[in-house]
Amino acid sequence: MRTRFPLLDTPSPNLQLEANLDNAIAHYFQKRALTLAEIPEYQDLVQRARNIRLDTLNDLPSHLKRFRGVLENAGVRVIEAKSAEEARRAVSDIAKRHDVKRAVKSKSMLSEEVRLNEFLEESGVEVVETDLGELIVQLAKEKPSHILTPCIHKSQREIAELFSRVFKRDVPDEESAIAELARVFLREKFFSADMGLTGVNFGVAETGTLAFVENEGNLRYCALLPRVHVALMGIERIAPDMETLGTLLTVLTLAGTGQRAGAYTTLLSPPEFGRKAPKQGRFFYLILVDNGRSGLLSDPKRRETLACIRCGACLNACVVYRHIGGHAYQAPYMGPIGAILMPGIHPKGTEHLGFFSTLCGACREICPVGIDIPGQLLAVREQFFRHATRSPARGVRYLAFLLASHIGRHPRVASLARRVLRLMLAAPCLKHVLGWGKVRDLPVPASRSFQERFWGDRTDAA
Ligand code: SF4
Repeated sequence: MRTRFPLLDTPSPNLQLEANLDNAIAHYFQKRALTLAEIPEYQDLVQRARNIRLDTLNDLPSHLKRFRGVLENAGVRVIEAKSAEEARRAVSDIAKRHDVKRAVKSKSMLSEEVRLNEFLEESGVEVVETDLGELIVQLAKEKPSHILTPCIHKSQREIAELFSRVFKRDVPDEESAIAELARVFLREKFFSADMGLTGVNFGVAETGTLAFVENEGNLRYCALLPRVHVALMGIERIAPDMETLGTLLTVLTLAGTGQRAGAYTTLLSPPEFGRKAPKQGRFFYLILVDNGRSGLLSDPKRRETLACIRCGACLNACVVYRHIGGHAYQAPYMGPIGAILMPGIHPKGTEHLGFFSTLCGACREICPVGIDIPGQLLAVREQFFRHATRSPARGVRYLAFLLASHIGRHPRVASLARRVLRLMLAAPCLKHVLGWGKVRDLPVPASRSFQERFWGDRTDAA
């Protein structure tokens, strides 16, 4: 039974979303607590992982050079993409070169970042998501709302209803029925695909090894069944050697899903996808994507953000994310990591995300590489204010911020503003005029403010 703070008379307009998030995240915390109870040295591991990530970032160009050198010596085609546009073009050129009609794809936040699916579809390539959560959001024509669990915002019943609609049959609200239908649907796609698209969890500079972590086995199908495999990797996802890779993989799954290891960890070494592959009729391409990362790397105050290993734990810990869900961020990365990464790599229109936080510090506590997320959020806010006067839209937001910060001192003005807003929101189309977007809720303000209620109650009691 959900309890709500009694002074709030405006219930959250999307209780279903909150309930779905609460259920999934409660399960996650339970599992994580059980596993971590067996690992007393976990905090030492976190410290070690943090040092590895920060040291690697401090010397990233030389690690990248080494990594690239090992791969190219083994005959692997490595393509550098400075921007999202270059990354999309590179994949689409490969698709054209190999006459690709259908691509199967495993979960890759980087592909969301560069908007790969839309581009490929426009160039005539059918893209099929093969991670179950990704498939669900693709069929629902939505975007992922969590880094690890893309359909975390949906309940099992909602998924069964979606499958019933899409597959035009009655799908029961049962885990096994949903999974079976997806399995049969995907099997045919795997076997008929010309290209497999994957992300990369880590690339090892010393050996050129590519590490992939997953729980469903679909990534292996994507990497190994089609004749062409294209892997997209952010330039920061480097582990110097196999030993450091071991530490990073351990904290990744412990923090992300509470597992000691992912169900499938795949390590591909250059000989497997280097010179040998084309002789067997198979082709591999690695696309190293920068897309704003070099800029972030060159800022010593903000570089730490790139230490992220995309475990998704900070989303689960964030009270703001848990209340509004991932779609409200309107960005490929959401939650605390989205709020610090997006303004770093793509500042235009994302700097306001720095305010999607209470700065409570729960994200820093849970982060397996100890990123000072609240500190980074403050740096993003500083960046926002530095730019606030440079564009009219930002200026308006800045004025709104100042007004909201000081309105509490002027109760009459606040009361008038509340009444005007209540009137405006009576017409649903005005929500859009107010610019809050299609995916965010704009609740009607309470008829009496917190202060009026609080002091009113005190007066009554006296
Ligand atoms: S910031 Fe930390 S907790 Fe959040 S996704 Fe990245 S590694 Fe995980």
